Order: sequence, then C-alpha cells, then structure tokens
Amino acid sequence: MAEKRVLIWYRNDLRLHDHEPLHEALQAGAEVVPFYCFDARQFDQTSFGFPKTGAFRAQFLLEAIADLRESLRSLGSDLVVRRGLPEAIIPELVNQLQISAVYCYGEVTSEETVIERALKTALQPLGVELKTLWGQTLYHPDNLPFEIAELPELFTNFRKQVEKYANVDPALPKPQKLPSLPDVEVGELPQLADLGLELPVVDERAVVQFKGGETAGLARLHEYFWQRDRLKTYKETRNGMLGADYSSKFSPWLSLGCLSPRYIYEQVQEYESQRIKNDSTYWLIFELLWRDYFRFVCAKHGDRVFYRSGLQGLAIAWKDDPERFELWRQGQTGFPLVDANMRELAATGFMSNRGRQNVASFLTKNLGIDWRIGAEYFESMLIDYDVCSNWGNWNYTAGVGNDARGFRFFNILKQSKDYDPQGEYVKHWLPELANVPAAKVHEPWKLQPVEQQRFNVRIGVDYPRPVVDLFKSAEANEKIYNAATPQNQRPISKRSGKTARLR
Ligand SMILES: Cc1cc2nc3c(=O)[nH]c(=O)nc-3n(C[C@H](O)[C@H](O)[C@H](O)COP(=O)(O)OP(=O)(O)OC[C@H]3O[C@@H](n4cnc5c(N)ncnc54)[C@H](O)[C@@H]3O)c2cc1C
Repeated sequence: MAEKRVLIWYRNDLRLHDHEPLHEALQAGAEVVPFYCFDARQFDQTSFGFPKTGAFRAQFLLEAIADLRESLRSLGSDLVVRRGLPEAIIPELVNQLQISAVYCYGEVTSEETVIERALKTALQPLGVELKTLWGQTLYHPDNLPFEIAELPELFTNFRKQVEKYANVDPALPKPQKLPSLPDVEVGELPQLADLGLELPVVDERAVVQFKGGETAGLARLHEYFWQRDRLKTYKETRNGMLGADYSSKFSPWLSLGCLSPRYIYEQVQEYESQRIKNDSTYWLIFELLWRDYFRFVCAKHGDRVFYRSGLQGLAIAWKDDPERFELWRQGQTGFPLVDANMRELAATGFMSNRGRQNVASFLTKNLGIDWRIGAEYFESMLIDYDVCSNWGNWNYTAGVGNDARGFRFFNILKQSKDYDPQGEYVKHWLPELANVPAAKVHEPWKLQPVEQQRFNVRIGVDYPRPVVDLFKSAEANEKIYNAATPQNQRPISKRSGKTARLR
C-alpha cells in the first residue's frame, strides 16, 4: 500500500483533465480513491417548492457520473458512489479504508461551504486533513491583480484589470494510468426514480441533445471549434436562439466541471494559431470572464446574492403573484418571445442567453414579481445551472446586482424583431402561431378576426391575449423600483422554506 491514500471528493468537477486535486495526489505518489456522493439535500425542494434538482439536470448529472466512472475504470481505477450526506459518509470511508487525506475543489456559496465545514469538523478527530483547492474559474485568485475583497464592483473594471495584469495557469494533463482501488464496495449509480424524478421526454426540437460527461463535453468542443469551424463567427452568431451552433453550448459541461475553462482557453489559443484570431475568438474568452466574475462576486459578497434585496440591497416591493408566475412559467403570457423561450426551457432544460435575459426582464420589469422565484425555477430546470452564474445574472437582470444602474428593461417587441425577424424561433416552439406571417407573429393580439381565421389561430383560445400592456406595466414597475430604499444589507422577510440561504 502507498504511504498515502487520498480520497478525491468529486463535486462539480466531473472530469479527469485539468483536475488539480487528482493531479496533486498522484504527484505525491498517493493511492487515490475517487468518490461521489449524491447528496440528499440536492434532491429536496427549493423554498418556493420546485424540485431543487429537476429531471433534466439530474439526468445530465447521472450521465456525467456514469461517464466519469467509465473513464476512471479505463485507467485502472473506479468511482465509489454513495447516497446520503458527504460529511457523514466520507468519515466512514476514511475509517474503513485508512484514508490519510481528503482532497476536493472548494465552492464559494453557503450551502456548499457549510458542508465543507461540517466535513472538516468530522475529519478533525480522525486526524485527517480536508484540502480544498480553488477550481471552476479560468483565472486563479492568486493570479488576480487584487484580493477578492477588493474585487471591482463593475464587470468592465474587473475585465480590464484581469486582461492587463493576470495570467491563466496552464491546464493540467489527464492522468494516463491510475492505481487500482482498495477493497471496497463501489456502489451502484442511482436511477432517476431513486432520486424521486421521472425520465424527461426527449424533445426533438431541442437545440442540442445534451449528454452529460467529460467525453461528450470534449466532443462538443471538438465539433464546435475544429469540425464545424464555428468559433470564427461566434461573436456574430452568439445572440441567436435557434439551432446547435449559434453559441458554444459549453455551459452544461462547464457547470458540472466536465469541461475545464483553462482547457477551453488553451483550445482557443490553438485555434488562433492554427485557423484564425479575430473578435470572435476573443469574445468567447470575454464571456468566460463573466462566468469568473460571478464566482468572484459570490466569493466576495457571500449570501447577499440570494437576498430579495440582492447585492445592491434594494428593498423593492416585489409582487407575490402565483397566477401570473404560472403563466410565465408555462409560456402563456401572450408575448411570443417570452412564451417560446419558457416552453423551450420546460421541454429541454436549456434556453439561450438572449432568451434568459428577455424572460427574466419580463418577470421582474413587466410582471414585477419577486425575482428569486424565477431564479429558483431556473435552478430547478437548467441543465447548465451554476449557482454563481444563475443568481448573479438574476441579480443583474432584476436590477439589484452590485452594479445596478437604475431601472432597465428589455423591450420584448424590439428584441423579437431584432433577434427573430422571420419569427422562425417563436414558430418553432409555438406551433399554434405556425401560419401567422413574420410581420405579425410577434404581436398576435393585433390580428383581426378574419386574419385569425386565415392563419388558423384564435387569440384568447389557442394562444393567450397579453397578460399585461408591455409599456404601461414597465412604467408602473419603474415607479416601484424608483421608490425602493437601500436596505443596508439587512436580510428582509426570511423565508421559512428549506433553502435557508434565501432571505
Ligand atoms: C437570468 C439568467 C440566468 C442564467 N443562469 C445561468 C446558469 O445557471 N448557468 C450558466 O452557466 N449560465 C447562466 N446564464 C448565462 C448564460 O445565459 C449562459 O451561460 C449561456 O446562455 C450558455 O450558453 P453557451 O454555453 O452556448 O454560451 P456561450 O455564448 O457560448 O458562452 C460561452 C460560455 O461563457 C459563459 N457565459 C456566457 N454568458 C455568460 C453570462 N452572462 N454569465 C455567466 N457566464 C456566461 C458560459 O460559461 C458559457 O458556456 C444565465 C443568464 C441569465 C440572463
């Protein structure tokens, strides 16, 4: 037996390439025991009553774990899998297998760090160290030109300083071979039903049939960059909503760590030297910086990102309107762009960035509904759910982010005409509008009875009338927004739900 036996606690880092905990343990000549725990709390309900990990996300996760196990097996190891609480199960394994240290990537948000602390406490009497390394981001905090506590409150200031003064560390190589596991029951992977979920129906209209795992993530990168050569036009296409290639679609794999951002960075550099270096190749890294930024923001500001008053601490009189929320959730608002995006999310677990911005703006600026219910619904549904990116973007869209600059809302009609001029996207998801010509499809409430007959749609029957007047509702909510007072970051209306971090 090697002198050291290290348990690698896999969390949102489901890969072998560029994996520092694994790399470090192997460099130290340790035996490694890769481990994943299906944490029961992740399959509970959110405070607004959604499944915390919905079926699309859970399915993607199960695929990613199965792929990781397969890859570990092919190198001579395996993945030990358990269900329960990591802070209870890991100490048991430590005792059973004479583990000398536990390595993992650390997280930054409360639900996750609470577990790390509990585990550390449980390991202390056993004399076993929990080593948490920083991962997830492109830039390591040690390479930033400022302490996280001094992180700029404006993204642009962050980006400019990072671009000028910081370096990206090289991605670590994937191990070629792994030591075999000690004698241990590896455990079976749960099925969706074991997690209380049903297999989602496959919708052929999805932009991509996403499959979880490092293998599929690397294949997507290879296809997008090298086979289909899409990176060179990324900047022009990234605001699209229809089809596999308008943007990279890397986010689901990034969120579970199946793809490392440093590996993507190196591949962009390779592409720039082999094919072309242009605004598009730069822009993909620019977008990855947003992802970094939200993680650093959460590391700096802690739980404020989950407060109703947001990072900004604005006590806005958000509405509690379950009926209208349901219309939004089901894609029945009467605004085709909003409805098509919400139906895409419900049917596939994915939505474009353009779509997310529009639907989030509509919920908060037109319906005036508490943004956190939207954020929690996204948490439940999105296969690329990432705690920092999701809650950070919702803060931003709701106007309570750290750099909030007054009431800004998306003019859904202008957005529809700019980004879906032919109405192809809305017709893809709203078959009831399939026969309406492009010039009228984004404002179906204007169709005369004779036109409704001609285009085979009855407004108010087959497709809803608009739930609000777009501009009057924005005006009314702007007044509410402007009347809000700064909260000085005191948590308001502590919810009694199960997700304790919501305030
Ligand atoms: C309300 C709202 C909620 C969101 N929730 C999430 C979430 O839970 N998880 C998530 O990964 N992204 C989230 N985003 C950001 C963004 O919509 C997705 O990252 C993007 O749509 C993923 O598609 P893509 O990989 O093709 O992106 P691309 O355009 O190809 O971008 C490349 C990568 O850059 C990163 N990125 C791009 N835009 C953003 C952004 N605005 N914020 C953070 N990272 C970004 C992602 O990692 C993405 O994969 C949210 C945006 C909004 C407006």
